Amino acid sequence: MSSYTVINPATATPVTEVHLASVEETDAAIEAAQEAFVGGWRDLAPGERARLLRRFASVVDAHVEELAELEVRNAGHTWGNARWEAGNVRDCLNYYSAAPERLFGRQIPVPGGVDLTFREPLGVVGVIVPWNFPMPIAGWGFAPALAAGNTVVLKPAELTPLTAIRLGELALEAGLPEHVLTIIPGKGSVVGERLVTHPLVRKIVFTGSTAVGKQIMAGCADQVKRLTLELGGKSSNIVFADADIDAAAATAPYAVFDNAGQDCCARSRILVQRSVYDEFLDKLEPAVTGMRVLDPSDEASEMGPLISAQQRATVRGFLDEVEVAFAGNTPGGDGFWVPPSVVTTEDAEARIWREEVFGPVVAVMPFDDEADAVALANDTEYGLSGSIYTRDLARGLRVARAVESGNLSVNSHSAVRYWTPFGGYKQSGLGRELGPDAPAAFTEEKNVFIAH
Ligand code: NDP
Repeated sequence: MSSYTVINPATATPVTEVHLASVEETDAAIEAAQEAFVGGWRDLAPGERARLLRRFASVVDAHVEELAELEVRNAGHTWGNARWEAGNVRDCLNYYSAAPERLFGRQIPVPGGVDLTFREPLGVVGVIVPWNFPMPIAGWGFAPALAAGNTVVLKPAELTPLTAIRLGELALEAGLPEHVLTIIPGKGSVVGERLVTHPLVRKIVFTGSTAVGKQIMAGCADQVKRLTLELGGKSSNIVFADADIDAAAATAPYAVFDNAGQDCCARSRILVQRSVYDEFLDKLEPAVTGMRVLDPSDEASEMGPLISAQQRATVRGFLDEVEVAFAGNTPGGDGFWVPPSVVTTEDAEARIWREEVFGPVVAVMPFDDEADAVALANDTEYGLSGSIYTRDLARGLRVARAVESGNLSVNSHSAVRYWTPFGGYKQSGLGRELGPDAPAAFTEEKNVFIAH
């Protein structure tokens, strides 16, 4: 029997032990999920599936504080973030609870008869979750998959299993039949790989690093397994000279240092038009040094620690190569702290400019004109997110259309909403999650011709 000691990253102290599943236990979970699918969840009246998902949402709602407290301790998330994350699971369940009764097929006119299409669920869906946003990323996978009539086997990240385990218990409490949503903590190399290779798993939803995503894509090819990939990012926050510079500088820290920068959508590059470059940096400095980096158990904390000593070492490796222009503070102690740090550069080949840091570090670079900004923003193998700050809305739209990225915002640092599709260009991913079409992505469209 193997187990993992969950660590509180703010204090580096143990929280609890979690059993790590074996390949045999993973097989048993997948087989039980298949049994729960055929003649069970798949065949439930759509209205009944909808009702159970709404009940699940209201049970999550009643446990937001408890789930948030688990995430504060397990992942070092601030209270504000952790409450939002638990609420996001509730909201996704409510949103997708409308889907079972609206998974319409089509009637297509053809010669000699009529053709009907049906949206059939796939079967067992394997959801593989990273440690940076354990609750929302789990919900984005399981809520639309369940709504479409699939059963789900979900592997949380080894480092952050606690909220997923609790969500699995809450699903049962809400009345979802056993094995419809199974949470199976374990190693990526054991449970994760088995989800990819087991023939009864018909789709993989993977969120994590681009390196592991490529391995999973290759593994899925063997069975032509359906696949959604949400991978890394190196996104730009583009500030034009005509923007509200006060607002752009005040919000920039939250676009990159939220969750201590461990965010695939982090705007870890800031591009500033040269004529306002110095003014922007002058205004950014107090916004960064004033961030409240505190133990996340303190309600006032705006930024917590990194997830692990290993992640801290990775981030420090980037900082060792550069000169930090200015940085915030940390509370000290044994936690895995790195201060919010700002680096200025004009070297578009520098590692800090090209690679995903996944920590509280942002690189700022000047640009000359719109074409220059777009070219610099697109000069990356990633394409997940980005922001544009300008008072010229036509330019905002033009630049948003030109940036090769899946999720953009104009005069806002946030582009992730459960109502809208979320996913990446290039090596940031494959397919889309969220938005109204997400349940359909967990179905096959079948056509049936009836002669007359
Ligand atoms: P990893 O890719 O290392 O791990 C993600 C998940 O995959 C974990 O559950 C991990 O398990 C599992 N895993 C690892 N190896 C395998 C394998 N061979 N087969 C199947 N599963 C495997 O990423 P991190 O957890 O380190 O997360 C950080 C990365 O995720 C960042 O690069 C970030 O950009 C990206 N990310 C992307 C998001 C997006 O939506 N685009 C959102 C969030 C993160 P275990 O925990 O046991 O290693």
